[in-house]
Amino acid sequence: MEIRHVDAVAVRRDLDERFANAQKWIDSREYCLVRVESSDGTVGWGECWGPVAGNRELVDEWVAPWLRGQDPREVERIHDDLVFRLRSAFHSYVPASVVSGVDIALWDLRGKLAGEPVGRLLGGRRRDSVRAYATGHFFTDCDDFSTLRERVVEEARGHVDAGFDALKNKIGLARHFPWGREEDVELVRAIREAVGDDVRLMSDANHAYDAADARWVADRLADLDVHFFEEPMPPEQFDAYGRVNAAADVPLAAGESWAFTEEFDRAADAGAVDIVQPDVTSAGGLTSARRVADAAAARGLRCLPHVFGTPVALAASLQLLSTLPGEPMLEFDRTSNPIRRRLVSDPIDNDGNGVPVPEGPGLGIEVDPDAVEEFRVGEAGR
Ligand SMILES: [Mg+2]
Repeated sequence: MEIRHVDAVAVRRDLDERFANAQKWIDSREYCLVRVESSDGTVGWGECWGPVAGNRELVDEWVAPWLRGQDPREVERIHDDLVFRLRSAFHSYVPASVVSGVDIALWDLRGKLAGEPVGRLLGGRRRDSVRAYATGHFFTDCDDFSTLRERVVEEARGHVDAGFDALKNKIGLARHFPWGREEDVELVRAIREAVGDDVRLMSDANHAYDAADARWVADRLADLDVHFFEEPMPPEQFDAYGRVNAAADVPLAAGESWAFTEEFDRAADAGAVDIVQPDVTSAGGLTSARRVADAAAARGLRCLPHVFGTPVALAASLQLLSTLPGEPMLEFDRTSNPIRRRLVSDPIDNDGNGVPVPEGPGLGIEVDPDAVEEFRVGEAGR
């Protein structure tokens, strides 16, 4: 058994209405998928975090020639060899999104070749459905704060009506609007008042604050019984995270911007967070995300993976979540995304407050070739 074809598949779609978090306005969704085919014609799909540019060229021109001819069942060996080779090539930086896309595709392929869902190969399923929290409540174009607050509250009510009992909202308005930390807290308070005390709330600042503002906001989020406070500061500020986390009554969470076990170890050493959030498309794939989850559990930290991608990322995350100890939650992106809705023949949806783990072999999804062609950009085969 050997790998015959490796291709980057770029998909993209403009959105009708843009939205923002504290980092950026989002007016399109684009992804670099990875398609790996073995010598018997079995196909595995993976997904890289970030823009198509860079990911596509590395997969097609650098990874593919090296990967062809290797045994697709040796996923962790390939993961580690690829990291080693990329470090040699780039010295100060390993493009973790590329490792991730390739690694997820190989796990999908390995599962399909074995006739087993990936969760079973990752150590065994503990659950068939994962409690989900609705991610949304982004910022929209708006001139006055009360209108923005009303939109966010209306969205929160809609998620609760759809069966969710856990929600995550965005804070960090100051980058885009003439409002600041007071309005950030006011958004959370308005959601809390609208949905009541029985709904679990989380807040995500996407690096908006310095340590002083992070502490100020953390105190107020704790008063509103917020379950975790995500990425208050830029992710490389491990020491500041450690100080704020030690002082705060709300647990800090971060990890979507960290990759590989070494970076998560550094965060754990600094006491940066109580909750780690590896993203399978950027942390180094399922191989690294599982290692991060194991290390977190050994140090008393909770692992709640970050998810903001296509059904490939969603299914891979569900496979990992099916294996984690405790009571993990799925991040379930509710923003507008035609690709997420249509890329697979059987869309992944919530059933009340949970999302079922796909049952089939590999990631358990069937990527629809017609949908791929509909969303595909750039040269076919590139
Ligand atoms: Mg986040």
